[in-house]
Amino acid sequence: MARRKYVVGNWKMNGLTEALGEAGAIFAAARGHAAVDVALCPPFTLIGAMAALPEGGTVGGQDCHVQASGAFTGSVSAPMLADAGARLVIVGHSERREGYGESDGDVKAKAEAALAAGLSVILCVGEPRKVRESGDAIDYVLAQVRQSLPDGFDRSRLAIAYEPIWAIGTGLVPTIEDVAAMHGSIRAALTERIGAGAADLRLLYGGSVNGENAAELLGAGDVDGALVGGASLTAAKFLPIVEAAA
Ligand code: PEP
Repeated sequence: MARRKYVVGNWKMNGLTEALGEAGAIFAAARGHAAVDVALCPPFTLIGAMAALPEGGTVGGQDCHVQASGAFTGSVSAPMLADAGARLVIVGHSERREGYGESDGDVKAKAEAALAAGLSVILCVGEPRKVRESGDAIDYVLAQVRQSLPDGFDRSRLAIAYEPIWAIGTGLVPTIEDVAAMHGSIRAALTERIGAGAADLRLLYGGSVNGENAAELLGAGDVDGALVGGASLTAAKFLPIVEAAA
């Protein structure tokens, strides 16, 4: 099965109602690139409105709780995301792992909760700068993959995003060789775990992707798309990345 390119925007804690115009422009233009799957993950507050935009488009959440409902003040569950119109959710983003102490076990439980709710999942992994500098990045990331991968999953509904923490929001990117080596290693670890079907899983790169570097990053071995933060907030910055994937 050929892997379709996948470009996903993570709006993080950005976006008021007025930002829906950017989402509409992105979705409208994305329709012209039939070979690329495009999705936007706004804050919870915009999911319903973004999913209802007349331009149509795939909308996701940035996190979910492991439980479907209950006494968890401030949290949002996977069934709630689906109910609001989301079709996917990001789990294990480094800002959740670092800022909220999420372990690989937590990330795995969230991925399983999301899949059970019918959502697709983008599972994030990535090493801190010190680990990259010490030369242990591949071992570190493969341990994250092995420990946070859900048990038993539909290959069409899981993607893995490799996001070196030191590249997120910094303007720094790994060399193309390092990206290809990491993605190849992740693919090999997935093959060890689930067999030849691992060839169907999409592996995204994330970390300071922009219109200038997207074509090169998307051309690296085993890179099937991009998870984009800052450059996903406006159509002017995001669409060149979608075009680079097309
Ligand atoms: C992200 O946080 O997922 C991300 C990749 O951010 P940026 O593109 O801004 O580096």
